[in-house]
Amino acid sequence: ATPTALMVGTGRGAQLGILIKGPEVLESTRRVDTVVLDKTGTVTTGRMALHEVITAPGVSEQDLLRLAGALEHASEHPIARAIADGAAERTGTLPAPESFENIAGLGVQGVVEGHAVLVGREKLLSEWVIELPAGLAAAKAAAEAEGRTAVAVAWDGEARGVLTVADAVKDTSAAAIAELRRLGLTPVLLTGDNKAVAEAVAREVGIDEVIAEVLPQDKVDVVKRLQAEGRSVAMVGDGVNDAAALATADLGLAMGTGTDAAIEAGDLTLVRGDLLVAADAIRLSRRTLGTIK
Ligand code: ADP
Ligand code: MG
Repeated sequence: ATPTALMVGTGRGAQLGILIKGPEVLESTRRVDTVVLDKTGTVTTGRMALHEVITAPGVSEQDLLRLAGALEHASEHPIARAIADGAAERTGTLPAPESFENIAGLGVQGVVEGHAVLVGREKLLSEWVIELPAGLAAAKAAAEAEGRTAVAVAWDGEARGVLTVADAVKDTSAAAIAELRRLGLTPVLLTGDNKAVAEAVAREVGIDEVIAEVLPQDKVDVVKRLQAEGRSVAMVGDGVNDAAALATADLGLAMGTGTDAAIEAGDLTLVRGDLLVAADAIRLSRRTLGTIK
């Protein structure tokens, strides 16, 4: 590829809403055969809203929302924001937690009004030897089968309820994935979220390969494993937890609507956070390279 042709490609990219780190980046798109897509904030909007409040017998909705909301208020996770906002709307001012700890990929834990509170995946509860009773587990499974994310709430050693949050698939995701397939790429959905939720979203957008329940620090290993299988991997992500995977992928595409860490780690930035532009980016660079061969 001549430098001039690559510069033209780079300029055309800017017009399409693609920021390219350097012209040489375009070269890596030639071989890419697999595109790994982060779920939350990439395939879905990441703008979640509190949907259902499911309580264990003897627990009031008010208490569940107040204690879970107070803890989540201290977290910046999209799930946390949905829960804190929904709780504040329904119960009023939330108390400030006495202590707070964010456990990446699992949830949050801390002390609120003297209670030791946990909000997050079932795995977080099981680390404290807390089990979800059958009623809550069934409600959680039903919500997940419909593609909603469900988190468990426990305090003082007992599961107290389940909160579900709904996140919408972006309007352009299904079309973008069809377009990526037309370009010969195999899409793979990668997420820390539950398998049932991930599969419901994958079905909605036309992805067959799903890798779910992956901890943030393990996303990069998924990329390495695919590369070890001989695949050349493009990764599309938006979160802090996607940064290492974006940097390791043969081609990293960051959502411009995402975190600075993701944008810094990516080779390309999709300015408007539209997945359709990911297909444009790959088509553009192939065309740029093609014209000069
Ligand atoms: P993704 O890979 O889809 O961007 P994350 O790795 O950030 O998701 O989180 C994985 C899972 O961990 C979430 O689906 C949720 O079940 C749980 N989780 C993470 N942070 C929180 C939180 N602040 N509150 C409740 N649950 C959380
Ligand atoms: Mg994400």
